[in-house]
Amino acid sequence: MANDPDPTDPADPADPAIAEARALLADASDVVVLTGAGISTESGIPDFRGPAGVWTKDPAAEKRAHIDVYRSDPDVRRGAWQQRLRTADAPAWEPNAGHHALVELERRGRLHTLITQNIDSLHHAAGSDPDRIVEVHGHGREVVCLACEMRAPMARALDRVRAGEVDPPCRACGGILKAATISFGQNLVEADLERAFRAAAEADLFLAIGSTLSVYPVAETVPIALRSGTPLIIVNADPTPFDAYAEVVVRGRIGEVLPAIVGTAS
Ligand code: NAD
Repeated sequence: MANDPDPTDPADPADPAIAEARALLADASDVVVLTGAGISTESGIPDFRGPAGVWTKDPAAEKRAHIDVYRSDPDVRRGAWQQRLRTADAPAWEPNAGHHALVELERRGRLHTLITQNIDSLHHAAGSDPDRIVEVHGHGREVVCLACEMRAPMARALDRVRAGEVDPPCRACGGILKAATISFGQNLVEADLERAFRAAAEADLFLAIGSTLSVYPVAETVPIALRSGTPLIIVNADPTPFDAYAEVVVRGRIGEVLPAIVGTAS
């Protein structure tokens, strides 16, 4: 059941979609959650494909995000390091009510696994148990060498940039360093993907939040859950390809709707 997709409407506790989602959640004990960029927009981080998304506004940015461009173009790498520096030096992003509602779900013993496509670490910052989080697209807390796969803290690499290295190479092998995120064209970490797929198969409720559900292979978790007969709740401002298969689709701002569903709204 879908409501009018107006994300600016405040969450209406009488919204039948919210009531239906609450009832499904009340019956579930192994909830698997998949979050996308939409859960973090209310923390000030733009998504890619939403109406105000980075790629919606600048389609060429999608091409620049490909790993082949990063490997082959030193200017792109220099720009990426400057961007990482600006992000690190700006006030830290704070988790919002959507992230906190998921912490509450976990505190009640209902959360099986939190699969996130986000690289922003805001589920960690909110207090979700790191052992329950699968960051399928990596994260920005570390850098990784594209040649020897050595990892190091992002903060150390940024210190080198501040000291004048515009594109710091790997200290072990001289290879190209990049944030430990998965760019387009890069393989996902097999163990993370397997864990996400296994969790989707074990769920007794699947909750997809703030994602267009169009990035594969992660979006494959949704049909995996559906094939096991698991009910699907979608919380997203815009339609997704899986809306027709969902038990309930809840529109609206995640930071308002999710607390209303979990029952943490004041
Ligand atoms: P997406 O950009 O493809 O889609 C986000 C969806 O969230 C859109 O459908 C949009 O309508 C919806 N949305 C945005 N704000 C919302 C709000 N406040 N309330 C309700 N709905 C809202 O996101 P995706 O499917 O996660 O895919 C983008 C990829 O880019 C991901 O794989 C991720 O790795 C990466 N990414 C991550 C971040 C981050 O870490 N915060 C930000 C941008 C992109």
